[in-house]
Amino acid sequence: MSESSYNPYQNARAQFDRVADMIGLEPAVRELLRQPMKEYHFTIPIKMDDGSSRVFMGYRIQHNDARGPAKGGIRFHPQETVDTIRALSMWMTWKCAVVDIPLGGGKGGIICDPRQLSETEQERICRGYVRRLAKDMGPVIDVPAPDVMTNSKHMLWMLDEYEEIMGGRYPGFITGKPVGMGGSLGRTEATGYGVVYTLREALKGMGLSIKGTTASIQGSGNVAQYAARLYEELGGKVVSISCWDNDDQQAYSYCKLDGIDADQICSITDDYGTIDKEKACDMGCSAIADDGWLTQDVDILIPAAMENQINMGNVHKISPQVKIIAEGANGPTNTEADEILRKSGIFLIPDFLCNAGGVTCSYFEQVQSNMNFFWEKEEVLEKLDTKMTGAFKAVRDLAEGRQIYMRDAAYYISIQRVADAVKMRGWV
Ligand code: GLU
Repeated sequence: MSESSYNPYQNARAQFDRVADMIGLEPAVRELLRQPMKEYHFTIPIKMDDGSSRVFMGYRIQHNDARGPAKGGIRFHPQETVDTIRALSMWMTWKCAVVDIPLGGGKGGIICDPRQLSETEQERICRGYVRRLAKDMGPVIDVPAPDVMTNSKHMLWMLDEYEEIMGGRYPGFITGKPVGMGGSLGRTEATGYGVVYTLREALKGMGLSIKGTTASIQGSGNVAQYAARLYEELGGKVVSISCWDNDDQQAYSYCKLDGIDADQICSITDDYGTIDKEKACDMGCSAIADDGWLTQDVDILIPAAMENQINMGNVHKISPQVKIIAEGANGPTNTEADEILRKSGIFLIPDFLCNAGGVTCSYFEQVQSNMNFFWEKEEVLEKLDTKMTGAFKAVRDLAEGRQIYMRDAAYYISIQRVADAVKMRGWV
């Protein structure tokens, strides 16, 4: 369920303000950090396959680059809004800071529905986006990556256009490239695996392990798919996984109490994360409409789809059995619902910590691209695990030490790091 009045930017600012108050952040630092430093809004005119022309809106928002070049994905979405990208760019700043990588925060978006566009039309949109921004992005300015409904193919088209314009090879321009074309092994898995690394640590802190636990996942895109796979590999049982069904224009949760085979469900999911309903039912799943994923009697909920999915319309439907919410998506919980969660006793792994695996691996990709020497997958995943586990423990120790909510603790660490950087640079 979504609430039309929901504004992710207000949500991101409310989260920030709460901790800025707690820290006693200086007014000028607060003013600087509670809004993006630069925004680009532009048109992308495209020739369609049928010879007609269409104009798409594109955005790139750079929230802060005090700790390093802005970093963050580019989304394709028909309902994209400027305020959503503003919020997402802020969350990228906190995300890079919480895992302590030398990057800032940015995000981009194009209002379009790739499900309605051919490959060649998508390619022209990617190239048009880069033509508009080539001078304002780049390895030392702002580095894009995949996000909702974009993938390694889109990244390579964007890189190719950038290199054509700049007249050289700049593999550090973009991350999430295909393996063999400057991409890192493990990047595709990284966000979902990172979610499970933090989940494993959270369970360890409760004296539990993944083995024998049950989970319900919202979404079946890249993050959800790899989270489900690793969670299952470590002995967990996924009893429900949901998706947006574009044909029916509604969400379904596919449930199977004796466990859903992760590989099997991924094999019947399309490129945009839609599960084939008929085949899922053949697998023995029952299809429940709307918020079904959230009402399951499971130990773990993993919202891994879009923002504002846990809200006042459904937060009360969460089963008392749920011990942990691992936020794989960006901004899945709105401010009001978060107030309920913070009093509920459910352990929360906040989004910009939980889903930081993707950008952490993007950072590894940049390092490998710059060295022109690529690591084995095991090495990438080991380094990823170390980074995610270290960041998780730092946040949990602070939360325990100060008796504060996990989301506030993550903000506390990130805001301090970014505030120190802007002050050391002498900006304020
Ligand atoms: N889009 C991903 C995120 O929201 C990854 C960003 C990146 O790799 O730069 O974290």
